[in-house]
Amino acid sequence: MTCILHVAVQTPAHSGVGDLLSYQHTEALAPGTLVRVPLGQREVLGVVWDALPGEPLPAMAQLRPVAGVLAGLAPLDAAWRRLVAFAARYYQRGLGEVALAALPPQLRELGPEQLARRLRRPAAPAQDAPDAPETTETIALSAEQQSVCSQIASQPGPFLLYGSTGSGKTEVYLHSVQAALARDPAAQALVMVPEINLTPQLEARFRARFAPLYGAGSVVSLHSGMTNPQRLASWLAAHSGRARIVLGTRMAVFASLPGLALIVVDEEHDASYKQQEGARYSARDLALWRGREQGAKVILGSATPSLESWHASRPPTPEDPQGGRYLRLHMPSRIGAGALPRLRLVDMAQQPRGAVFSPPLLAAMTERVERGEQCLVLLNRRGFAPVLHCHACGWKSDCPHCSAHQVFHKTDRSLRCHHCGFAQRVPRACPGCGNLDIAPVGRGTEQLEEQLAALLRNVITPARRAARVARIDADTTRAKGALEEQLAQVHAGEVDVLVGTQMVAKGHDFRRITLVAAVQPDGALFSSDFRAPERLFALLMQAAGRAGRDARYMEAQASQPEMWVQTWHPDHALFAALRRHDYPAFAAQQLGERAQAGMPPFAFQALVRADARTQETAQAFLQAAGDAARATPLPGLEQVFIFPPVPLAVQRVANVERAQMLLESTSRTALQRFLAAWQPLLHAERARHKGLVRWLVDVDPQAI
Ligand code: ADP
Ligand code: ZN
Ligand code: ZN
Repeated sequence: MTCILHVAVQTPAHSGVGDLLSYQHTEALAPGTLVRVPLGQREVLGVVWDALPGEPLPAMAQLRPVAGVLAGLAPLDAAWRRLVAFAARYYQRGLGEVALAALPPQLRELGPEQLARRLRRPAAPAQDAPDAPETTETIALSAEQQSVCSQIASQPGPFLLYGSTGSGKTEVYLHSVQAALARDPAAQALVMVPEINLTPQLEARFRARFAPLYGAGSVVSLHSGMTNPQRLASWLAAHSGRARIVLGTRMAVFASLPGLALIVVDEEHDASYKQQEGARYSARDLALWRGREQGAKVILGSATPSLESWHASRPPTPEDPQGGRYLRLHMPSRIGAGALPRLRLVDMAQQPRGAVFSPPLLAAMTERVERGEQCLVLLNRRGFAPVLHCHACGWKSDCPHCSAHQVFHKTDRSLRCHHCGFAQRVPRACPGCGNLDIAPVGRGTEQLEEQLAALLRNVITPARRAARVARIDADTTRAKGALEEQLAQVHAGEVDVLVGTQMVAKGHDFRRITLVAAVQPDGALFSSDFRAPERLFALLMQAAGRAGRDARYMEAQASQPEMWVQTWHPDHALFAALRRHDYPAFAAQQLGERAQAGMPPFAFQALVRADARTQETAQAFLQAAGDAARATPLPGLEQVFIFPPVPLAVQRVANVERAQMLLESTSRTALQRFLAAWQPLLHAERARHKGLVRWLVDVDPQAI
């Protein structure tokens, strides 16, 4: 008997094709079954979806037949399909687009026979997991950890585990995962981390704990740094239930996990949980939704929680007897590590003019290096200098394709645009006037490395060698394995001072770093992005957490860890809170400001962005789309405020002009209702602009 199947496929963006396409097949297939179907001239992967309620059925004769069924695979379960459908709806994207993007790339290419062969093959050995640790012993939990673990075991959650770096959060994750898996032989756990380069460390720890219990294949990773065959192997292991624990970055939130019982989101405040292209989902927020839907507990962990999560976990008070939706669990003590570092603020107004490193900071670093300790210097700008400048005619190294400067990289004498990637050789003379004396203005990590090496040239370490300075940033770690190699050098003590971007502030377990310095953090204090102070505070706290991690080393050295900050604004409230390591005070102050200004988490936002050849076209498109919404008027509009269109901070990238329009509402439901009703108008408006505009919606944007 021939049947009609509704199939989610990846249709080209803005094609106007509906979310599901209909095909005919010789028999009914369960929703969630993977099929190959014809689409135009191609044959693509699709997911059989639940029948649409109330849709008139198309005439069978017009339907193309399904080309093949990936029979060896169990259908994707209803919970997974609900997650995908929710994400598509909430983030205003196509169902098929989200569904197919959530599957491993290789699965999209394999035909039924190839897949069958793939499934017969024994599982690939675990992806380049470090052979690392021998121990399987379980650590006796501290009293704080015990109390937290028993609350996680007995309460429904979700939980915000607020504990400083080194307080033993990872140990709580391990313990909670173990408890969840022990309860049910089919149970699975998902553990997410923000950065790919943090997964090997974590994987080693989880493997050491769980491989002896559940076998070597019980722990798998999922992240974009893996090859396609590795990703497919991990995905299949999770889908089949063979893998009990999936460790991954944000994409792992979409893994097929039929037995999902626990989700951990480590460093939940980290901005990289937000996808920045396609469906711009927040993996943290989806984790919370998925946990609720699938009956899995959710633990968010951080030393500096996002203000959203902090607010959502506020304890009940007489004025606010409900409190927040999450349960906040606090672990104030540091276990393996010593005391948190002391903050040393350097008032740059009191320092010699133009000094990159103030004399007291330089003296402190020299002293550390002479004792054989290591220092970490942070600057969030790659390259040697952000711009080259001719003082004779005013020429600047502007990118010809963007409204941005090209950054001067001295190592390979190039000018590179960090927005579009355009690269040129540094000109011999000023292209404007021929002046030979064009100079770098401002500084980046390359320059810090060079200057520090010169300043510390005569400093001798206890190993009787000259001090060594090294740099770790996106430029030095482009090659595969480069980061691991450089980190190994730091661990081996071959480097005395490490210069780097925020990349090195995150998560790494440096044992001999005792001093951390942020040399130019001021930009974030007065940024137009209201989240900049929140991010700076998190970064500085995290960086501070890199110093003095090994209590025994600190004791042997008789050394105290320090965090140095050079600033022109030493009286800023942010630094006062940082000095006391007082995240709650900082959060209270910030939340007070946000409440007053009606900003998240007290309001919900969405951005519509338009890209066009000219700024006028981009803005006119947004204006017209806003006007159309008001003229109708659309449902939800009465509770949604539409701001006027504005250019983006970097308004032109790769010759494309970019504008955006902010939408704000105190009601998430109203905003969602409005956005859903608005979609067709945006499509229509684009058609009216003859396709000369591209647009996208970013729900809960991270950067305004
Ligand atoms: P966090 O994830 O909060 O930074 P970790 O869980 O990594 O903290 O713990 C920091 C260090 O303390 C690690 O070396 C860990 O092995 C150790 N540790 C954690 N819990 C205990 C415990 N109960 N007893 C002894 N050492 C512990
Ligand atoms: Zn010139
Ligand atoms: Zn450019």
